[in-house]
This record gives sequence, structure tokens and C-alpha cells, in this order.
Amino acid sequence: MERQQDYVLRTVEERGVRLVRLWFTDVLGQLKSFAISPAELETAFEEGMHFDGSAIDGFSRVQESDVLARPDPNSFEILPWADDDGTSARMFCDIDNLDGTPFEGDPRGVLRRGLDRAREVGGYSFFVAPEMEFFYFADNDPSRPPEPLDTGSYFDLTTADVAGDMRKRTIAMLESMGIPVEYSFHEDSPSQHEIDLRYTDGLSMADNVMTFRLVVREIAMEQGAYATFMPKPLAGVQGSGMHTHISLFEGDENAFHDPDDPYNLSDTGRAFIAGLLHHAPEITAVTNQLVNSYKRLIVGYEAPVYVSWARNNRSALVRVPVTKAGKASSTRIEYRAPDPACNPYLSFAVILAAGMAGIEKGYELPDESAANVFEMSDKERAAAGLRPLPQSLAEALDAMEGSEMVAEALGDHIFEWFLRNKRSEWADYKAHVSQFELSRYLPNW
Ligand code: GLN
Ligand code: MG
Ligand code: MG
Ligand code: MG
Repeated sequence: MERQQDYVLRTVEERGVRLVRLWFTDVLGQLKSFAISPAELETAFEEGMHFDGSAIDGFSRVQESDVLARPDPNSFEILPWADDDGTSARMFCDIDNLDGTPFEGDPRGVLRRGLDRAREVGGYSFFVAPEMEFFYFADNDPSRPPEPLDTGSYFDLTTADVAGDMRKRTIAMLESMGIPVEYSFHEDSPSQHEIDLRYTDGLSMADNVMTFRLVVREIAMEQGAYATFMPKPLAGVQGSGMHTHISLFEGDENAFHDPDDPYNLSDTGRAFIAGLLHHAPEITAVTNQLVNSYKRLIVGYEAPVYVSWARNNRSALVRVPVTKAGKASSTRIEYRAPDPACNPYLSFAVILAAGMAGIEKGYELPDESAANVFEMSDKERAAAGLRPLPQSLAEALDAMEGSEMVAEALGDHIFEWFLRNKRSEWADYKAHVSQFELSRYLPNW
């Protein structure tokens, strides 16, 4: 059988690829890239390509620390957009230290370790399918309120439709890059759209999310518009989530499925949910990493606020979608906290680690919250044992800082770097005086 590496080398030659872009991700989930010529490809596969590792955690560029980018041939894809330099292709990279050990600052490496661990512990493969929500705006000028391109709402097909066209082109481009799309539609808010990716293994999906965000932005830019994954760009309407559907497989078997259970959920599935609920506050800083993320996680907008689970209530943090009878493969759980501005590698890593803790420690699943938890009083919620998710980035960082589980999942390097970087973002936010305060206080106080 032809090795994947040889397939890449042959394709680059046959398709006349002029540049191979090596992609990786910094700690916060920004895409980084450098290009090599096809002549370097064999060396890149065999030895890796040197670059300065502070590109990944640019927070403290004190010392230059060279690392190696090792392109993953399984992620090879010809880029479908026009490029002045001719045809180009991309591969995602794993990052190593010069001595060949994995570089602790590499988010893709963090997810890889978590996936390997789940395989070693229980023979599990981790599958995910995110629902990507985002807004199109006329531009990205932060000095004016964002200007929506349409006034559509949930599932609308009638909006005079630049956006519908952009969505269609986006999907065509994603599919041409091997990223299948399951659903797409106009979401609830003006100019808000959703594209749901078809489930695949965690590592490929994190790569896909990175590609997705780039493609959505590229297509918007082509049309003179701007796409944003900012979680709550408009007050008073829904923000953008990245609901993440999760399942574990043992070989071909869905480990979450049990045909004899009324919810079709196996003990493994229940323990995974229990782990997620138990650790949810600790992982929220990672799945919701911006000051702005917490403006989405408020009561009344189909975004979760309390740690709860239910089969079919959109106020729940974990939802267990009812699946068609006999469709064992589609038994899954939906984790509704993440937003699309997260680093998908780190988010999937902490979600998996939380669920695995539930399985390994045999956490008990609390009762389902059948009611709409938004409509309960504080007293009723307390009686039902419902804890809130962190209400701000600062609270989320406090919860994360105390978590051995998250420290282990991320590794000390990223754990500490992330806390330092985000504490500093919070300090900047605290120091700032907002329009809200001026309007509210200046005239009267
Ligand atoms: N936009 C909502 C959120 O912030 C989700 C809406 C939905 O898909 N039901 O999570
Ligand atoms: Mg959806
Ligand atoms: Mg949605
Ligand atoms: Mg959903």
C-alpha cells in the first residue's frame, strides 16, 4: 500500500503544486502558517522544519526557542482558492522540540495525547460534530455597531440573500476540501448563520474547525463582507455557540448506545455526561475563552447558564438528542457551552478529559432536569442542586486554576500560559470604562 507521505509527494508533483503551506495553531486557537517549496517536502517529512516556537505562545517572546513543524500527511489538501503563487496545498503540523520530544505548547499535541489516552484506557475513539454559528456583518470596524446584512430569523429562506449565497459557496468549498456538511440554515438572530459539520474523529474535526473558520471568512471577504465568530456581537439577540455532539466508539460499536435503556444511553454514556457535568465549571475558561463569551451565557437565549442535563430542553448544558430507533451509531450527547471562538484542539481535549474522568471514577449521573431551568426560581434551582456555570472569564479562570483534571489534560505549560494570558485580558477589561457605565452614571452621579 502506498504510504500517505508518498501519496502527498506524488500529488504535489502531478498537480503542479508550487507552495505547501504548513499550518499550526497557537494556544488561543489562531491559525499560523508558513510556506515551503515542494523541494523541501521530503526533508519536512523526515526531519521536520525549524521555526521559532514563540509564534505559538507569543505571550513572552523573551527567548527564541526553535521547534520543529512535522507535517501530518493525513491532513494534506489542495487549497481551492486562487493564489497568486499558483496552486498551493496545506498540511497541519505537529510540533516537536529539537530533540524530537513533543513541544508542550502545541494544542494539537495536547489533543493527540488525550485521544491516545482514551484509546489506552478504554479502547475508545472520540468522535465529535460541532454546530458552527456565526454572523455576517458589513465590515469589521469596531468603532461602529456591527451592521447585519439581513433581518432574517430561524430557518428563514426568504431574506434577500447575499448571505444565503455566501453560505452555499462556503459549503461547496468545504466539501471540495473533504469537510462534509450536514445542515446549514439561517439562525435566530439577524445575519446569524449555522453550518453543522458531519461527525468525524476529534483530531480531524479540530483541524476542520480551523479550516472552517478560514473558509467562512475568505468567502465573506470575497463578497466584501465580514464574518465573525465572536460569541455575542449584538446585545439583545442570541449569540453564537458551538454546540458539540460527542460520542465514543469501541471499534465499530457506539459505546454510548444501549438499546435496552429508555434513553438509549449506556452506562458509559451516563458516566461520560456525569464527568462533563462534574467538571463543567473547570473547563469553561477553555471552551469559552473570551470576556465576551460570558455575555452569551446568560438566561433567555438558548445558551446554557446552569449545570444540568435533559433530553430535549434547550436550557440544559448537556442535551441527549432522541435518536431514531435502530440508529445506534447516532446515539450521542450534545455539550452546549462551547462557543466558536474557542481553540477547538484544547476544547475537545478538556471535554474528553472531563468525560473520561466520569467513566474512570464512576461518577453518578444526577437526575435529568425536565423543566426549563430558566423558569425556575433561585430557590427551586438550589433545591434541585443546580450550580451555575462561571458568570465571567474571571470566575471561569478561578475554577480552572483549581482543577487538577484540566492541568493534566492541558499539560503544565499550556495550563499556566493560558491562565496568565487570560488573567491579563481580564485585567485589561476591568480597567476599561464602558459606554454602559457612561450612559448610566455620568448624567446622574
Ligand atoms: N445561538 C444559541 C447559543 O448561543 C443556540 C441556538 C440553537 O442552536 N438552538 O448557543
Ligand atoms: Mg443546531
Ligand atoms: Mg443553532
Ligand atoms: Mg444544537
